[in-house]
Amino acid sequence: MTTPPNPLLSRGFDRLQPYTPGEQPRVANLLKLNTNENPYGPSPAVIDAIRQATDDSLRLYPDPASNRLREAIARRHGLEPSMVFVGNGSDEILAHAFRAFFVQDRPLLHPDISYSFYPVYCTFFGIEAIRVPLDERFRIRLADYERENGGIVFANPNAPTGIAVSLAELEALLRANRESVVLVDEAYVDFGGESAVGLVRRYPNLLVVQTLSKSRSLAGLRVGFAIGDPGLVAALETVKGSFNSYPLDRLAQAAAVAAIEDEAWFRDTCQRVVDAREALAAGLLDLGFEVLPSATNFLFARHPSVPGAELFDGLRREGILVRRFDAPRIDQFL
Ligand SMILES: *Cc1c(COP(=O)(O)O)cnc(C)c1O
Repeated sequence: MTTPPNPLLSRGFDRLQPYTPGEQPRVANLLKLNTNENPYGPSPAVIDAIRQATDDSLRLYPDPASNRLREAIARRHGLEPSMVFVGNGSDEILAHAFRAFFVQDRPLLHPDISYSFYPVYCTFFGIEAIRVPLDERFRIRLADYERENGGIVFANPNAPTGIAVSLAELEALLRANRESVVLVDEAYVDFGGESAVGLVRRYPNLLVVQTLSKSRSLAGLRVGFAIGDPGLVAALETVKGSFNSYPLDRLAQAAAVAAIEDEAWFRDTCQRVVDAREALAAGLLDLGFEVLPSATNFLFARHPSVPGAELFDGLRREGILVRRFDAPRIDQFL
C-alpha cells in the first residue's frame, strides 16, 4: 500500500533526496575524522576580526556584494573582483552554479564516485546526469568526458578518493569542451592538488570553486568562493539575487578577509596536515591497508581482510569517528 501524498507539501516534494552530512556527534574527546574538518583552529587574526565586527553595526544588513572579501580573494589570485563570486559555503555556490549552467537539454557529466551533493542538486533542479565511472584504480579519466554534455562537474582532488588529476589532463578536456561549463570543485586543492585558477582567463567556460571550510579551518563560518570569467560570475550573481541577496553575514565577511590575508598561518597549517597525512598513510600501509594516493586532508583506505563496517565500528568504540559509504565498489573503504 502506498501512502497518499501529503496535501500540505508542494508538488514533486517526495522526489527530493537530501544530502546526508557526516555525523556531528555531541561526544567529548572524540577523534573526529568523518567530515574532513581541519584539526587546527583558524588564524588568530580571524578571531580578532570577528571580535572587532561584533558591535552595534550588526543592526545593519551586510554588504550584499561582499566587496572587501571579493577584493581580497582577487588580490591573492592576481585577478579582478569581477571574476570572484562568494557564497554561504561552497555548497551554496554549487547550487547556484547547477541552477545557472546545468539545467540543459543535454546531460550533466560527473564521476560515479565523487561528492555526493552533485546528484542531490541534480534531483533538486531536475537535471539529467550521466555518472561516468572512475577507472579500475579509482581515478577520474577525463578523456571519458569528451562526449556530448550539458556541463561537467568533478572534484579535484576528488572526494572521497583523495586522488587528483593533473592540470595538463584538465586543459586537454577544456580544449575539447568549449560549449558547456566545466566546474572544478577544488575543496581540497590546498593540500596538494594543482589549482585550475590560472586557466580561467583562457577558458571562459571554466568555473573553479573553493572553500574556506577545509584549508582555512573555517567549516563553521560557511564561506566559499568561485573564480571564473566575469560572464559566469554575473550569471551566478543573477541566481543569487533570485534566492538570497545577503548570503554572507557581517561577521563572516570580516573573518573571511582576515583568513585570506593570513598567508603564513594558512601555509603552516596546511603543511602540518600534509605531514600528518603522510605519516598516517605510512602507518596504515605497514598494517597491510591499501591506501589510495591522497592530495587532500584525508585518506581513503581499505583492509584486504577486515571488512570496512567492522573497522568503522571498532574505531568508533575507540573514540575515532571515520566515514564509510554504502556504495558499490567503495563499501569496504574508510
Ligand atoms: C567539503 C566539501 C564541499 C563543501 O564545502 P563548504 O564550503 O563547507 O560548503 C564541497 N565540495 C567538496 C568535494 C567537499 O568535500
